[in-house]
Amino acid sequence: MGVGAKVAIFSFNGSKIVTTSGGGMLASDDKELIDHARKISQQAKEDFPHYEHTEIGYNYRMSNILAAIGRGQLKVLDELVKRIREIFEYYKQTLGDVPGIEFMPEAPYCRSNRWLTVILITPEKFGVDRETVRLALEEENIESRPVWKPMHLQPVFNPQITQINANFKNKKRYPCRVVGGEVAEDLFNRGLCLPSGTAMTEDDLDRVVSVISSFNK
Ligand SMILES: *Cc1c(COP(=O)(O)O)cnc(C)c1O
Repeated sequence: MGVGAKVAIFSFNGSKIVTTSGGGMLASDDKELIDHARKISQQAKEDFPHYEHTEIGYNYRMSNILAAIGRGQLKVLDELVKRIREIFEYYKQTLGDVPGIEFMPEAPYCRSNRWLTVILITPEKFGVDRETVRLALEEENIESRPVWKPMHLQPVFNPQITQINANFKNKKRYPCRVVGGEVAEDLFNRGLCLPSGTAMTEDDLDRVVSVISSFNK
C-alpha cells in the first residue's frame, strides 16, 4: 500500500479494518521526512536536557500499549480482509444488476481491502435518490451514510474571497484552493456507504438488501 508515493498514511482509528483504538502511521522511504515527522510528533524537543523548542511540535506519540494492540491485530488482518471482501461480494451479487446502482471498481494494480462497501445511486435510473434510500434504511434502524463531503465544500474551507476576507481576521475560516472537484462532488451526491462490519451476519445483509431492492419493483 502506498508504494511509489512519497508518503503513505495509515489510519488505525476504531472504525478501521485493523485498529489500535486511535492514531495512525506514516510510512516513507525518505528517512529525513520520517525523522522530522517523528520529532514534531514528540513535542519537537531539541537535544537539550531541558525542553527546548525551535519549531512547533505536537503530542501525537502513540504508546507501546497501542503498538501491542496493533501487532495483535496484524495477525488477524488476512481473515478480516477475507470476510469484508465477502460482504462486498454479497452486496454486489444481490444488487449489482439493479439499474442505477454501481459499485466501486477494483483498480487493476491492487487488491482492495473493501473496508467499506460504497454504492452510487443514479436517481434517473434507480427511481429515487441516495438520500431517500438512506432515510428508508434509517426507518428500519439500519445506519448508512453519505460518502465524505469534499473539503472544498466544507464551510471551514469555503473558498469564497469575500468570506475569507471577512473571516480570516478572526481565524474562523481558512481558504482552500480548488482544482477540479467535480468527481468528488458527484461521489458525495450519489454515494452511500453501506453497513460493512465484519460481524454482520447473512441475515443482517439481507435486511439491508431488501430495503434497497424494495425501490426496484
Ligand atoms: C478513516 C478515515 C478518515 C479519518 O482518519 P483518522 O485516522 O481517524 O483521522 C478520513 N477519511 C477517510 C476516507 C477515512 O476512511
